[in-house]
Amino acid sequence: MVYILLMRKVNFILKALNFSAYKHRYQRRKGDEHLPYINHPIRVAYLVSEIGKVEDPVIIASAILHDVVEDTETSFDELKEEFGEKVASIVMEDTDDKRLEKKERKRLQIENAKDLSYGATIVRIADKIANIMDIVNSPPDDWSYERKKDYLQWAKSVVSKCKDYDGSVKDLKDYFFETLKKVEKSLKEHN
Ligand code: ZN
Repeated sequence: MVYILLMRKVNFILKALNFSAYKHRYQRRKGDEHLPYINHPIRVAYLVSEIGKVEDPVIIASAILHDVVEDTETSFDELKEEFGEKVASIVMEDTDDKRLEKKERKRLQIENAKDLSYGATIVRIADKIANIMDIVNSPPDDWSYERKKDYLQWAKSVVSKCKDYDGSVKDLKDYFFETLKKVEKSLKEHN
């Protein structure tokens, strides 16, 4: 019985991976290595599991799917039908409204951080960890030192505002701040 339940969870996560990989199939990351886009959501989901120690397949699947609405032709209804209401809602919470100007979208992420649900908070912080790691590991070619510094500052503001729900959130936040220190140091050294 335990084995069957475990396999159902694994299957649900694999279904999310399959869906996300297909939706992002033509996209590449902004960074200088131009990695396949799917590397990013895989890393976010791995951070959720490895650092946050989150075992809920709904949250892990949401991490894998967190960019499909924002960056591909995927709707809330499609996600809801494939993965259920909870996953669809978490993904929507972590989706910026692209009709707004970039500056406003960034401001809203700081403002809304404290109101995110538990799952959306976990995904939001793991996403920011993955993104600040990319600033040193695979930085976008056209980003100046200032722009990178601004990005780090903004990510810090978002993560700081996230609600401290539990130990998983705390561990992810701690890991974010440790990573931030390393990234800032490396950025200074290479500037
Ligand atoms: Zn992301």
